[in-house]
Amino acid sequence: MPVTPFHFGAGLAAKAALPARFGLLAFCTANVLIDIEPLYYALTRQYPLHRFFHTLVGATLTALVTIILFTITAHLLKRWRINFNWLTNEFHPTSIWFGALSGAYSHILLDSLVHEDMHPLSPFTQINPFTGNFPRFSVETILVFMGLLGIFLIAIRFVFHKRAIW
Ligand SMILES: [Zn+2]
Repeated sequence: MPVTPFHFGAGLAAKAALPARFGLLAFCTANVLIDIEPLYYALTRQYPLHRFFHTLVGATLTALVTIILFTITAHLLKRWRINFNWLTNEFHPTSIWFGALSGAYSHILLDSLVHEDMHPLSPFTQINPFTGNFPRFSVETILVFMGLLGIFLIAIRFVFHKRAIW
């Protein structure tokens, strides 16, 4: 989806549900990395916009790159003794893996629902089993709702427990 921030809605809801072991930063990073592809092809006017990185194989590769980047960052934070509570949770190995993998795979699923040039199972088959089932508007509306719900729950926890959820 060229409008990457819609994907963050699902991440915010997941963060509200699993604050300590869901890596929202890794989730968002995987989504942004995947959408460099359609951004590049849109800017250079080459079609289709959704290619290798919008397949399950490409998404897996992107998730692994995200995991490597975050694992290196986690080691650097530890070495430099940068130690905030929310950072500790965001850079916990479970958070990194969970965030990156769910970010990449949810991206492919959501984009497959709304983009006709998606071939999520390529190179094994060009069939997109998810396309055409959901209007783009309804998918985006659900993601916005999830994002607002996530922010609301995070804010509630912050107000009543006097701490950030991280
Ligand atoms: Zn996309």
